[in-house]
Amino acid sequence: MDDDGKEVALDEYEGDSLFAITGRLEAATVSACPDCRCRVVAAVALVDLLDAAAPHPRSGELLDLADDAPTLHLYVVDALTKCEHRRWRDPLFDEWLEAVEVPGSQVRS
Ligand SMILES: [Zn+2]
Repeated sequence: MDDDGKEVALDEYEGDSLFAITGRLEAATVSACPDCRCRVVAAVALVDLLDAAAPHPRSGELLDLADDAPTLHLYVVDALTKCEHRRWRDPLFDEWLEAVEVPGSQVRS
Protein backbone atom coordinates (compact mmCIF):
# COMPACT_ATOMS: atom_id res chain seq x y z
CA MET A 1 0.00 0.00 0.00
CA ASP A 2 1.08 3.60 -0.31
CA ASP A 3 0.93 6.58 2.02
CA ASP A 4 -2.52 7.52 0.72
CA GLY A 5 -3.90 4.14 1.76
CA LYS A 6 -4.19 2.85 -1.80
CA GLU A 7 -3.42 -0.82 -1.80
CA VAL A 8 -2.99 -3.92 -3.88
CA ALA A 9 -4.17 -6.90 -1.86
CA LEU A 10 -2.53 -10.22 -2.66
CA ASP A 11 -3.85 -13.53 -1.49
CA GLU A 12 -1.53 -15.99 0.21
CA TYR A 13 -0.48 -17.69 -3.00
CA GLU A 14 0.11 -14.41 -4.82
CA GLY A 15 2.14 -13.11 -1.92
CA ASP A 16 4.27 -16.25 -1.84
CA SER A 17 4.91 -16.15 -5.55
CA LEU A 18 5.70 -12.43 -5.50
CA PHE A 19 8.28 -12.99 -2.76
CA ALA A 20 9.67 -15.94 -4.73
CA ILE A 21 10.21 -14.07 -8.01
CA THR A 22 11.56 -10.90 -6.40
CA GLY A 23 13.97 -12.50 -3.93
CA ARG A 24 11.72 -11.50 -1.00
CA LEU A 25 11.76 -7.91 -2.28
CA GLU A 26 15.23 -7.70 -0.74
CA ALA A 27 16.65 -5.32 -3.34
CA ALA A 28 13.85 -2.81 -2.79
CA THR A 29 13.57 -3.13 0.98
CA VAL A 30 14.75 -0.21 3.08
CA SER A 31 13.52 -1.51 6.42
CA ALA A 32 11.83 -4.72 7.46
CA CYS A 33 10.58 -6.64 10.44
CA PRO A 34 13.04 -9.46 11.17
CA ASP A 35 10.20 -11.81 12.09
CA CYS A 36 7.63 -11.42 9.32
CA ARG A 37 7.10 -10.04 5.86
CA CYS A 38 6.11 -6.54 6.88
CA ARG A 39 8.50 -4.05 5.38
CA VAL A 40 9.08 -0.64 3.85
CA VAL A 41 10.15 -0.72 0.22
CA ALA A 42 11.42 2.03 -2.05
CA ALA A 43 8.88 2.62 -4.82
CA VAL A 44 11.51 3.25 -7.51
CA ALA A 45 13.46 0.15 -6.61
CA LEU A 46 10.26 -1.89 -6.58
CA VAL A 47 9.57 -0.85 -10.18
CA ASP A 48 13.06 -1.97 -11.20
CA LEU A 49 12.64 -5.22 -9.34
CA LEU A 50 9.27 -6.02 -10.93
CA ASP A 51 10.61 -5.10 -14.36
CA ALA A 52 13.48 -7.53 -13.92
CA ALA A 53 11.45 -10.31 -12.32
CA ALA A 54 9.44 -13.05 -13.93
CA PRO A 55 5.88 -12.03 -14.84
CA HIS A 56 3.45 -12.01 -11.94
CA PRO A 57 -0.33 -11.82 -12.28
CA ARG A 58 -0.45 -8.68 -10.11
CA SER A 59 2.70 -6.97 -11.42
CA GLY A 60 0.71 -4.45 -13.43
CA GLU A 61 -1.27 -3.30 -10.41
CA LEU A 62 1.84 -3.17 -8.26
CA LEU A 63 3.65 -1.11 -10.89
CA ASP A 64 0.72 1.31 -11.06
CA LEU A 65 0.78 1.61 -7.28
CA ALA A 66 4.52 2.26 -7.27
CA ASP A 67 4.33 4.75 -10.14
CA ASP A 68 1.54 6.71 -8.47
CA ALA A 69 2.94 6.56 -4.94
CA PRO A 70 2.80 9.99 -3.25
CA THR A 71 6.02 9.32 -1.32
CA LEU A 72 9.24 7.43 -1.97
CA HIS A 73 8.10 4.49 0.09
CA LEU A 74 5.53 1.74 -0.16
CA TYR A 75 4.41 -0.36 2.77
CA VAL A 76 4.09 -4.10 2.73
CA VAL A 77 1.64 -5.52 5.26
CA ASP A 78 1.55 -9.23 6.01
CA ALA A 79 -2.10 -9.65 6.86
CA LEU A 80 -1.66 -13.26 7.91
CA THR A 81 1.00 -12.76 10.52
CA LYS A 82 0.37 -12.53 14.24
CA CYS A 83 3.71 -10.81 14.57
CA GLU A 84 3.78 -7.68 16.72
CA HIS A 85 7.07 -6.56 15.21
CA ARG A 86 8.74 -6.24 18.59
CA ARG A 87 12.20 -6.74 17.09
CA TRP A 88 11.66 -4.22 14.28
CA ARG A 89 13.53 -1.30 15.81
CA ASP A 90 14.03 1.35 13.19
CA PRO A 91 12.68 4.85 12.64
CA LEU A 92 11.01 3.53 9.51
CA PHE A 93 8.91 1.19 11.62
CA ASP A 94 7.06 4.24 12.93
CA GLU A 95 6.55 5.47 9.39
CA TRP A 96 5.22 2.05 8.39
CA LEU A 97 2.94 1.91 11.39
CA GLU A 98 1.52 5.34 10.67
CA ALA A 99 0.84 4.43 7.06
CA VAL A 100 -0.80 1.10 7.72
CA GLU A 101 -2.51 1.67 11.02
CA VAL A 102 -6.14 0.77 10.94
CA PRO A 103 -8.54 1.04 13.85
CA GLY A 104 -8.81 -2.18 15.77
CA SER A 105 -5.59 -3.65 14.46
CA GLN A 106 -3.47 -5.61 16.87
CA VAL A 107 -0.26 -3.89 15.96
CA ARG A 108 1.34 -2.18 18.92
CA SER A 109 1.36 1.58 18.80
ZN1 LIG B 1 6.75 -8.45 12.22
